[in-house]
Amino acid sequence: MTNFKKSNSDYDAIFVGAGIMSATLAILLTEIYPDINILIVEKLESSGKESTSAFNNAGTGHAANCELNYTPINHEGEIQFKKALAINNSFEKSLELWASLYEKGKIDCKKFLRFTPHISFVSGEEDFNFLKKRYQLLSRFNEFKDMEFSSNFSEISTWAPLITKNRNKNIKISATRVKRGTDIDFGSLTSEYLKYLVKNKNVELNYLTEVLDLNKLNNNNWSVKLNKDGKRKSLVAKFIFLGAGGKSITLLQKSKNPRR
Ligand SMILES: Cc1cc2nc3c(=O)[nH]c(=O)nc-3n(C[C@H](O)[C@H](O)[C@H](O)COP(=O)(O)OP(=O)(O)OC[C@H]3O[C@@H](n4cnc5c(N)ncnc54)[C@H](O)[C@@H]3O)c2cc1C
Repeated sequence: MTNFKKSNSDYDAIFVGAGIMSATLAILLTEIYPDINILIVEKLESSGKESTSAFNNAGTGHAANCELNYTPINHEGEIQFKKALAINNSFEKSLELWASLYEKGKIDCKKFLRFTPHISFVSGEEDFNFLKKRYQLLSRFNEFKDMEFSSNFSEISTWAPLITKNRNKNIKISATRVKRGTDIDFGSLTSEYLKYLVKNKNVELNYLTEVLDLNKLNNNNWSVKLNKDGKRKSLVAKFIFLGAGGKSITLLQKSKNPRR
């Protein structure tokens, strides 16, 4: 995937869907290969309307501060923490990417990033033991050194007043908090990326255009069938990215090439 010079193709790369996945990969590729010739197609009238929309996801950016599923318990009853560390490090890389694009004036971080504490909340003795152990394990690492733990009802009330309001004080509660958490509006981030991308004459973005089918050709290019304004059209690309959210599986099945 390193040589993007055109070879009997309409585009170097076609991206299906204008959600956060396509927009992120498109910006990374154009940063590395500024001359890459890209078409992004989206079946809706604008970008980031599906899972990427702020109304459809929690926006934690998966920093692993509060996602308890990243620290599962194994058969021996030990908390696994490597996944949380790896995910936190990946998210830090996203922050670095945004900071670098912001410094170069390519995107405006204020449009999509806000600081907000990340809180995990549990109730009952068993979950108290889990959360406390998780806190003790994670807070040893630089990534989570600012994590706080509390099982004090009044203190947790100041962290998360709505969760504690009218709650039975006889049931033990506990929580962790990372003050430096972020809230990412992935819909706004997607529009920031696309706003910048379309300034590049090598990048085309077509709304109200649906990919119907795709097939790998003998020369390793991809043939992509599209429907735009009721008109069918076929295009050829060297590389195709399926950023179609849940619809990616259907398209993968149509491509009859599950490994690509
Ligand atoms: C309840 C919930 C909570 C979540 N919380 C978080 C969180 O806290 N942090 C986090 O990082 N992630 C979170 N996620 C996950 C995150 O929202 C998704 O992983 C991400 O938005 C997926 O982006 P995408 O670009 O792959 O898909 P989408 O945003 O779904 O974009 C796919 C696009 O493709 C278009 N499309 C589909 N088929 C075609 C076609 N044939 N032709 C043309 N266009 C097509 C669609 O119209 C859509 O615009 C959460 C998800 C959910 C559901």
